[in-house]
Amino acid sequence: MVRSVLIVGGGTAGWMSASYLKAAFGDRIDVTLVESDRVDTIGVGEATFSTVRHFFDYLGLDERDWMPQTSASYKLGIRFENWRADGRHFYHPFERMRIADGFTTAEWWLRLGDRNETFDRSCFLTPYLCEAGRSPRRFGGDLFAGGLDGSLGRSTLAEQRDQFPYAYHFDAALLARYLRDYGIRRDVRHVVDDVVDVRLDERGWISAVSTAACGDLTADLYLDCTGFRGLLINGALREPFVSFQDVLPNNRAVALRVPRDTATEGIKPYTTATAMDAGWIWTIPLYNRIGTGYVYSDEFCDPEEAEQTLRRFVGPAAEGLEANHIRMRIGRNERSWVNNCVAVGLSSAFVEPLESTGIFFIQHAIEQLVRYFPDERWEPALRDTYNERVEHVLEGVKEFLVLHYRAASREDTPYWKATKTRAIPEGLARRLKTAETQLLDEATIYPQYHGFETYSWNTMLLGLGAGPERARPALAHIEPTYARLVLAKLHTDATNLVASLPSCRDYLVSLHEHGGEDDPVPAFAELGGADLGELPDTAG
Ligand SMILES: Cc1cc2nc3c(=O)[nH]c(=O)nc-3n(C[C@H](O)[C@H](O)[C@H](O)COP(=O)(O)OP(=O)(O)OC[C@H]3O[C@@H](n4cnc5c(N)ncnc54)[C@H](O)[C@@H]3O)c2cc1C
Repeated sequence: MVRSVLIVGGGTAGWMSASYLKAAFGDRIDVTLVESDRVDTIGVGEATFSTVRHFFDYLGLDERDWMPQTSASYKLGIRFENWRADGRHFYHPFERMRIADGFTTAEWWLRLGDRNETFDRSCFLTPYLCEAGRSPRRFGGDLFAGGLDGSLGRSTLAEQRDQFPYAYHFDAALLARYLRDYGIRRDVRHVVDDVVDVRLDERGWISAVSTAACGDLTADLYLDCTGFRGLLINGALREPFVSFQDVLPNNRAVALRVPRDTATEGIKPYTTATAMDAGWIWTIPLYNRIGTGYVYSDEFCDPEEAEQTLRRFVGPAAEGLEANHIRMRIGRNERSWVNNCVAVGLSSAFVEPLESTGIFFIQHAIEQLVRYFPDERWEPALRDTYNERVEHVLEGVKEFLVLHYRAASREDTPYWKATKTRAIPEGLARRLKTAETQLLDEATIYPQYHGFETYSWNTMLLGLGAGPERARPALAHIEPTYARLVLAKLHTDATNLVASLPSCRDYLVSLHEHGGEDDPVPAFAELGGADLGELPDTAG
């Protein structure tokens, strides 16, 4: 039997894995987590996918409890600013498109739409709620899309049927603390110590990790959650790292934690991704502060210039704040599960944070680990299927992100010019060719599960200015009355919701006042997030 798991690393990946394994297997598995109090966590990672609710529901956690304790807020989508041209924006919402006579509202917008109205405002409710700063819940807790509410229980990403209308922003360090308490209450053994060596047996399997104070720690299965260092998977097991930098060149970020006065500013219910000269800036409104950072390529911008750009972008509120400079390892391990070691989190893979996929990768990995959990036979097929699933998700997201840069109309700086000439994945080249004349469908987006649906691909194509100019020819032969009604109803629904939903800030104040305490903004030094130090040689 495989009865014991040792997790090395206590960031989001480590504590999500520990708490999930306990929720899945209870006392049948012993879980130990060892983390250093000298090596920082990454200190960023604050926006999520809507499917993260499966994770919380699986653990039996209610947002009314955990949100106030993690400075959490709602995320209805991502607002892309200046990706097409300065001053233009569109939303990538958590919302599927409505269908009329078998075709989506995007198809009908191409056929019937008023081109003075952007496609996202013609096809989705969410842009209206975002611009009006609305909460997806009413006072008392009812979700505006009532039929979608309620706990999903112990469900996984594979059971995702409906598109839930929101995700969360939260303070990653506070979430790790919250999950740590959850895990410890369920008998996760917590060791605070430095791992100084990883010992291998004659087959090359991990036999122990040696710590500075507690000696050797052993288990049947080891989870490498040591972040970009990949201490076990790359350091000890020498698994090669497949870099994505040939197609996704952003390899650095600089971040700030900005306190703010929500009473005057409100709380925006979305993440903003603003295109800049050599990358883009994220703005993530948490309950008690804003998380912001400039993601860029050091080929086009140096760290000092990036920090100054970010400070100028934030304005006077940035004065005196400590900046967190981060080097990012972009790509994936050739295999994330090698022998008796599984890498989860940044040690496994990372694409840049555009579209907030890091925590989704963790959730996906631990769900797959539970599904393909080994026994004493260490059946290779379990490991291989796991590795294949992880690879598909990473490759699919890679393609989807490359689309953002290739399809964006901007070409005004050397950085943006290069996005048009750099090599792109072959599958994506085909998809972009198809999208010149028709919107994509389930058969023409990246074919394996990778977390993004057809509507997301088409939203980015149309939002960035790379979709087809005209509707499919078939629409010319379909009586458009019903489609017009569907498009008109969307506007009426949006107007009614904007009028009836509370502001996001007002709702969150009521939630936080009845929940956990309001934490002051901690400094990076308290929560981790200093520069990475040396990456292992296998890093791309
Ligand atoms: C710039 C940036 C922005 C991001 N934004 C988002 C986002 O908006 N949304 C999202 O979903 N994801 C985002 N991510 C990804 C997200 O931050 C990570 O997926 C997530 O935080 C998981 O990190 P981790 O736990 O793998 O690693 P880390 O946070 O780096 O944790 C590593 C752990 O390993 C421990 N450790 C290391 N060495 C040793 C040792 N020798 N002994 C003992 N312990 C050790 C450390 O103490 C620490 O506890 C972002 C990432 C970056 C770089």
